[in-house]
Amino acid sequence: MKAASFDLAYPVDLAEATALLARADSRALAGGQSLGPMLNFRLVRPSLLVPIAGLAALRGVEETAQSVTIGACVTHAAIADGLVPDIGLNVLARVAEGIAYRAVRNRGTIGGSLCHADPAADWPTTLTALGADALTSRGRRIPMQNFIRGAFQTALQPGELLVAVAVPKLGAGARWGYVKACRKPGEFAHAMAAVLIDGAVRRAVIGATGGAPQMVGDAMPGGLPGVVLARALAEAG
Ligand SMILES: Cc1cc2nc3c(=O)[nH]c(=O)nc-3n(C[C@H](O)[C@H](O)[C@H](O)COP(=O)(O)OP(=O)(O)OC[C@H]3O[C@@H](n4cnc5c(N)ncnc54)[C@H](O)[C@@H]3O)c2cc1C
Repeated sequence: MKAASFDLAYPVDLAEATALLARADSRALAGGQSLGPMLNFRLVRPSLLVPIAGLAALRGVEETAQSVTIGACVTHAAIADGLVPDIGLNVLARVAEGIAYRAVRNRGTIGGSLCHADPAADWPTTLTALGADALTSRGRRIPMQNFIRGAFQTALQPGELLVAVAVPKLGAGARWGYVKACRKPGEFAHAMAAVLIDGAVRRAVIGATGGAPQMVGDAMPGGLPGVVLARALAEAG
């Protein structure tokens, strides 16, 4: 199928983008890797698309002693290629290079992935385990575990953009495990789990659950989620 017709309006800056997105029937377009198919299948029919991938305000990367802040429109490929500073253990690059295949990574963005909030996507689960925060165009700072609200649901309000993601750096001696089960390389996962052990921080998160990533307490989940979690725990040592 082909997308229903829509207008395109290229904003010059973040202010113009948010003004355009104040229209109820508008939609931000980042890498188009998820939105493109949704338009073609007519699952969404916005009358206005606002391409945001070229906006400098969404492409910056900032490193401090505590964290790395990654603009929403930084691509998976840029992260996989090491163009974003490491938070430790090369975690971000390792996650990024496991997303789909190169053509998708070249255009798909970290922010688009989080805003699309597919339960089987890599960033929602891994950034929840890493304790990242979402920074929005309304000046809100939202912990990742509150940002992803459910399958294809986020805490963003209408017209609000994700601007960046702040990821805390790992401490010395931190350990990380991330395992996903895919039928074929490059496919979306059927189960995934991420484990971070970093000083007093101990987080185990399972994804691809059909909803938001789930923090795991003491009880081990059963079935495939339990298997991938056991492997992620083993990887984290
Ligand atoms: C064949 C294929 C295989 C894939 N495999 C995987 C995989 O294994 N793992 C994985 O994690 N992902 C996978 N993906 C998804 C890919 O990672 C996409 O890049 C990602 O889901 C969406 O990013 P995007 O930049 O293309 O966003 P878009 O498709 O442009 O946008 C997605 C949604 O987010 C909204 N949006 C985008 N950016 C913002 C923002 N800054 N603020 C507010 N709203 C915004 C858009 O309006 C839209 O609703 C795959 C995609 C394809 C096509």
